[in-house]
Amino acid sequence: MSGDRMPSLLGADEALRRLTARASLTDAEAVALDRAVGRAVAERRLRAPIDVPPFANSAMDGFALRVADTPGTLRIAGEVAAGRRELPHVAAGTAVRIMTGAPMPPGADTVVPVEDVAEAEDRVTIANRPVAGAYVRAAGNDIGAGDELCLPPVVTPAAIAMLASLGIGSVAVRRRPRVAILSTGDELVPPGDPLAPGQIYDSNGPSLAAAVAEAGGAPIVVERQRDDEAAIEAALRAAAASSDLVISSGGVSVGRHDHVRHVLERRGALDFWRIAVQPGKPLAVGELDGTTVIGLPGNPVSALVTFELFVRPIIRAALGLAGDGRQRTWARIDERLTKDPQRRAFLRVSVRQERGEMLAVASGGQGSAQLQPLVAANALLVVPEGREATEPGTSYEAILLEPLP
Ligand code: AMP
Ligand code: MG
Repeated sequence: MSGDRMPSLLGADEALRRLTARASLTDAEAVALDRAVGRAVAERRLRAPIDVPPFANSAMDGFALRVADTPGTLRIAGEVAAGRRELPHVAAGTAVRIMTGAPMPPGADTVVPVEDVAEAEDRVTIANRPVAGAYVRAAGNDIGAGDELCLPPVVTPAAIAMLASLGIGSVAVRRRPRVAILSTGDELVPPGDPLAPGQIYDSNGPSLAAAVAEAGGAPIVVERQRDDEAAIEAALRAAAASSDLVISSGGVSVGRHDHVRHVLERRGALDFWRIAVQPGKPLAVGELDGTTVIGLPGNPVSALVTFELFVRPIIRAALGLAGDGRQRTWARIDERLTKDPQRRAFLRVSVRQERGEMLAVASGGQGSAQLQPLVAANALLVVPEGREATEPGTSYEAILLEPLP
């Protein structure tokens, strides 16, 4: 590193702390149950308005009867199906045919499943005495009216079932934070257009939009900008005015055309720039017109890895969700992969379990523009600052990006 013009690198933990401190919780909004899965729950506690089930009902197809009449042969005095309102009374010496979910008819205290009886014409024989209350689901045996219930942090199909069973048709969730995404660079063209010499496809725009959506945000892809300071400033300001968070890619390095950082420095406020992370050193964080702007590096792997480490947690914090939501494991690596000793490395690896041990293998080259190894990776292996390589046979923490195979 050359001299005093260059600020020192901010540590990864401190960068994350300063970033998540910038998050503010989004408002709550009510969404219908059919649109709620995966959303962050705003109000996790609720009081059950009714009993579930609301009335005593049969857990089986069978016969409702009185235990006192068994064992014995009983006259079949009627039938009750699910949804019935008028219920026959079960008098002594009689049984009523009942379907799963049908209300228990008055007089009966037990259900005997149809598999356990012998039927002949209008009689049914019960050979053994059942336990009183067998196969009867009492009112409120799942949830009692007035019970305090707790929803999970994120709406699941099971939580939707519970709310629906209580007659509740919507749930209060956090509004998805609007995250504007700006790609910068004279060389960029959108996928689908022909490539002229010197041009490359904009891969960060689409990848970051997908990553925002995956993290629970609402991506707003704004028009790509050339390396022109005024144009980038105007685009960043417009994005800041209409979103909760702005992320850009490219233009945060030390090149002559790296304008994103300059705009923050000159027109807004630069909080920090350059972090001790590999890949992803030239991350720039600041604000413009009161909105946080995160300038991600342009290299596609750096952009996605720094998104994973620093943007995903901010989006989750805005949703009221803790951490990055990723599982971690320790995994042994048997290769020697070199890294910058000044920075914490996040190596692209594939982790698998073999004979009860977690093993990590590099999923390919570790260049910050090599997308294939990132696609093949299921984890980032965290190799601390101070090391210049992985030590074969040593276990490191791995951040799992997807479930293990
Ligand atoms: P920069 O930080 O602008 O110097 O960009 C660093 C590297 O990332 C350069 O090789 C750029 O061409 C590349 N790059 C920048 N933005 C993108 C993008 N949106 N999609 C793909 N590559 C990009
Ligand atoms: Mg650039």
